[in-house]
Amino acid sequence: MQQAQRADPQDFERVLSSMCTQPHPEARTAAERFLVTNPGDPGTYETVATLEDDAVELLGAVAGLDDPAGYVTSGGTEANIQAVRIARNRAETDDPNVVAPATCHFSFRKAAELLGVELRTAPLDGHRADVDAMAELVDADTVCVVGVAGSTEYGTVDPIPAIADLAASVDALCHVDAAWGGFYLPFTDHEWNFDHAAVDTLTIDPHKAGQAAMPAGGLLARSPALLDTLAIDTPYLESTSQITLTGTRSGAGVASAVAAMEALWPTGYREESERAMDNARWLADALDSRGHDVIGPELPLVAANLSVPMTDELRDRGWRVSKTGSGELRVVCMPHVTRSMLRSFVADLDWY
Ligand SMILES: *Cc1c(COP(=O)(O)O)cnc(C)c1O
Repeated sequence: MQQAQRADPQDFERVLSSMCTQPHPEARTAAERFLVTNPGDPGTYETVATLEDDAVELLGAVAGLDDPAGYVTSGGTEANIQAVRIARNRAETDDPNVVAPATCHFSFRKAAELLGVELRTAPLDGHRADVDAMAELVDADTVCVVGVAGSTEYGTVDPIPAIADLAASVDALCHVDAAWGGFYLPFTDHEWNFDHAAVDTLTIDPHKAGQAAMPAGGLLARSPALLDTLAIDTPYLESTSQITLTGTRSGAGVASAVAAMEALWPTGYREESERAMDNARWLADALDSRGHDVIGPELPLVAANLSVPMTDELRDRGWRVSKTGSGELRVVCMPHVTRSMLRSFVADLDWY
């Protein structure tokens, strides 16, 4: 107890590796107000249940879907697991498989293992899905075809309309993972959402670029019937069934997601997106001019092949940076990342 009161959480001054960020001030206030509510029991906690409807409505506006179905998950992991579960439950095969590009988030591995579904990952075209390679993996037992709109490692966006066509060709669902990218993509020319393609389900996380407090992920579905495939009877609650993976869950995430989106959609997110892209381009140029191979930025994420393994030294200087699976330096330009932070980061790189 005493230990917890003395310890300080990390500050964000040198965090370049996180896909989460400082919550918007209104999101923080809302999270505290709704800390002791449980949207998993909507009969008892009615206000937060209503707020969750608002959250889904707002997420639908961000992702191009009128009358969206969905709910506020614990994060992108739960949303992806549930999307695979919907696809599996709706299909008739005993031997289901999911086809995804190799860039798909590791949560799909968890989904596959938990749900007894085979995950088939296709080789890439650069750092993006190769739809021809994916087409070679689909068959009559494919229940879901996945596209990534803002990959975790490189921030790349897959050709979602072509992936949706591929899904339709084998009567599988099309799921888009926009967990991180979803709050940047509306301000780009990318085709990624329900309005651009025959997308069935989509992951979009308020607790990443949406600037909500954790835990607040989002699962959207084109129709309520898709979510119904998840329903489990709940004998002792006032409501009769539950579609979520978790039971008791935090109303803080739900309320803060609504507060963040009400404060920021669309103008605030647009401004943030432009600022973040400017920062990412600035960093990409700075690294490029120092002779490093830079990947991106397509969205505000920069990966660079630094020839020296310097991430340990950077860590010693307080920087929190991560590496891609292939060992490139990876910097995520989240809202807490400022130009002056990036300037001093580059100055530290020059020091080596
Ligand atoms: C972060 C991320 C996830 C997982 O989300 P969590 O909230 O960490 O569970 C899934 N997909 C993508 C593309 C992500 O960037």
